[in-house]
Amino acid sequence: MKFRPTAGASRIAIVGRPNVGKSTIFNRLAGRRLALVNDTPGVTRDRKETHTQMGGRPVILLDTAGLEEADPETIPGRMRASSEVAIRQADLILFVIDARQGLTPTDRAFANLLRKVPAPILLLANKAEGRGGALAAMEAFELGLGTPIPISAEHGEGFGGLLDEIVAHLPEMPEEEPEGAEKPLRLAIVGRPNAGKSTLLNALVGEERMITGPEPGLTRDAVTVEWSDEEGRVRLVDTAGLRKKARVELELEKMSTGASIGALKECEVAILVLDATLGLEQQDINIARLAEREGRAIVLALNKWDAVPDRNAARKGVEDVLQTSLAQLKGITVVPMSAATGQGVDKLMPAVRAAHERWNRRIGTGELNRWFEVVKDKHQPPLVDGRRIKLRYLTMPKARPPTIVVFGTRAEALPDDWQRYMVNSFREQFDMGGVPIRVQLRGSE
Ligand code: GDP
Ligand code: GDP
Repeated sequence: MKFRPTAGASRIAIVGRPNVGKSTIFNRLAGRRLALVNDTPGVTRDRKETHTQMGGRPVILLDTAGLEEADPETIPGRMRASSEVAIRQADLILFVIDARQGLTPTDRAFANLLRKVPAPILLLANKAEGRGGALAAMEAFELGLGTPIPISAEHGEGFGGLLDEIVAHLPEMPEEEPEGAEKPLRLAIVGRPNAGKSTLLNALVGEERMITGPEPGLTRDAVTVEWSDEEGRVRLVDTAGLRKKARVELELEKMSTGASIGALKECEVAILVLDATLGLEQQDINIARLAEREGRAIVLALNKWDAVPDRNAARKGVEDVLQTSLAQLKGITVVPMSAATGQGVDKLMPAVRAAHERWNRRIGTGELNRWFEVVKDKHQPPLVDGRRIKLRYLTMPKARPPTIVVFGTRAEALPDDWQRYMVNSFREQFDMGGVPIRVQLRGSE
């Protein structure tokens, strides 16, 4: 699986050391509040990217984590590796310095690194608001990266000129995407903190796109990533995990949780990542139920399979909990895998696509009702208050998720257990494992 940027879009990477205002610039250029902005240096740890337009041209805007000279074993070191990927892939680089603080050794080290990159560079002197701002910006001339562009992201100053400069570096308008171009499959990766979501994303996309680490809560913000494989496009609406509230960074955590629920609303298929060494626990069940309630298809990834001592027992443990606590998702595809070693990861996307296909499938009324006759014959709907429920027929007016409507005399009184029987049979007959099924009852007297 190879990452390929959206056809025709130019990639613009915003780089610079922590706290110079990259996220603030990103948000201004994106026109939305996407990245988290915070006073703590290094808070922007992941790359964020957004698809937008500048001067009518499609661009992919990337916010990078701070680039620092640092040990690769530390978080700043890993951030740097991640930024380097962004820089290598960029068509245009916005290198940001802090005009108020002046040049630092890190800025200079950074400039040296950028000089080796083929992409054109715009040098942004941020925080240049007010008197003397433009003058302070000029110090950056000595970096030898062209004329500094004074801006103030906080106050929105200098962005008109900046946009003109950016557009001047973009290629001529590419051709329109062909009519009927295939839409990307919208995927969410959900799960508890530390289950391995970020590691999995890296494994799927095949690059250092997110930073993973043993510190819970490292993946803080929602990140949108899109890639293509042989089967088509996939847009991942990452979730940053449906995490428990942390004591320390409550505010950031709240924002992250909001983003996860948002991702579940936006996605078509959710991969629920479990730490298989811990098993399927209440918090996982809650997330699965949330996804079910949103009507999403779900695939269960049993991650960290490499670290599971007794695989038979682990597998059985998960199956047991599925049976007892997640009957709504009967037949869900379970993929044992290891995001860290890559083993089994290749089974995941085919499972996701199969779940997506089931979730989208429409079944003809004829076929449905031939099955329904058998279902009714096998188990008659019971008497309710001494009166018989007479079911006549059934339709499937929509998919995404599959929704069936049952028509009949007093259909609305159909007891839950008969509905469950019907839904289970439907699932088996039409291969609807891991897909929520909606039932509507339309009675008549
Ligand atoms: P990043 O770490 O480089 O992504 O920096 P942020 O975007 O998080 O900004 C770091 C800090 O600088 C925040 O407190 C921002 O409010 C502040 N900041 C951003 N742009 C400006 C600006 O134009 N002027 C001033 N004075 N502060 C700014
Ligand atoms: P997230 O919070 O769900 O995004 O989890 P991360 O991707 O940051 O991973 C949390 C920790 O689990 C990190 O220390 C990873 O190295 C580790 N991890 C992730 N996947 C695997 C795996 O397949 N096997 C093992 N043994 N560890 C893993």
